[in-house]
Amino acid sequence: MKYALISDIHANAEALDRVLMRVDTLHVDVLLFLGDGVGYGPSPNRCLDLIRNRCTSGVAGNHDHAVIGRTNTANFNLYAQKAVYLTSSILESESYRYLSELEYEWSDGEVRGVHAAPCDPPAWTYVFSVTEAARQFSCFEETLCFIGHSHIPAAFSIDRSGHVEQLDAVVLEIRPERRYLINVGSVGQPRDGDSRAAFGIYDGDSGRYELMRIEYDISETQKKMTRLGLPDYLINRLRLGR
Ligand code: ZN
Repeated sequence: MKYALISDIHANAEALDRVLMRVDTLHVDVLLFLGDGVGYGPSPNRCLDLIRNRCTSGVAGNHDHAVIGRTNTANFNLYAQKAVYLTSSILESESYRYLSELEYEWSDGEVRGVHAAPCDPPAWTYVFSVTEAARQFSCFEETLCFIGHSHIPAAFSIDRSGHVEQLDAVVLEIRPERRYLINVGSVGQPRDGDSRAAFGIYDGDSGRYELMRIEYDISETQKKMTRLGLPDYLINRLRLGR
């Protein structure tokens, strides 16, 4: 089985279009949406249309739940709150319905997908450290768990003795005696200093994982953000990849 993993699209249709064009050339069996289709960007309905029509399945992110009033935005920063408010004001009923039907986790027995972290997904935990990753490995049994949420690619693995280590997040050889927790980065608002859209490809047959990067028309997304009245801070950070 070959999987494409997309996360944190954040209503960036230009980035999502380019990523889907690339995915089309890769002949995957599963295209999994890892959450946060909306928030921050200007095109929530167009992005959710594409996600709903193109993805095999998907899970809910914190912004997805925030715009439908299902998660508390008290711990969102002011820019994120403003984006949630603007997104809610233009959200169409089909989009609302799609977001309200998303589950917290997806699994096919070999691969798990969850937005933030496998232990208690609605807690929206960030996995930055080996210590946190070690705790998260106790909450799933699949060989691989793919996540998003931080917008920063990362990879951790655990061996049979329970030793956890952090690995290079770009290209990985998946070894059968280990399990993996992999952050696939963000399609629509990367924060690792690289402004290109990020997504993951896992080929179960060859045992290879790769983080893909794709350029897209950032100016076009920024123009739409300005028109919608989104904060300059959110507009400028796309070019910086921060
Ligand atoms: Zn996000």
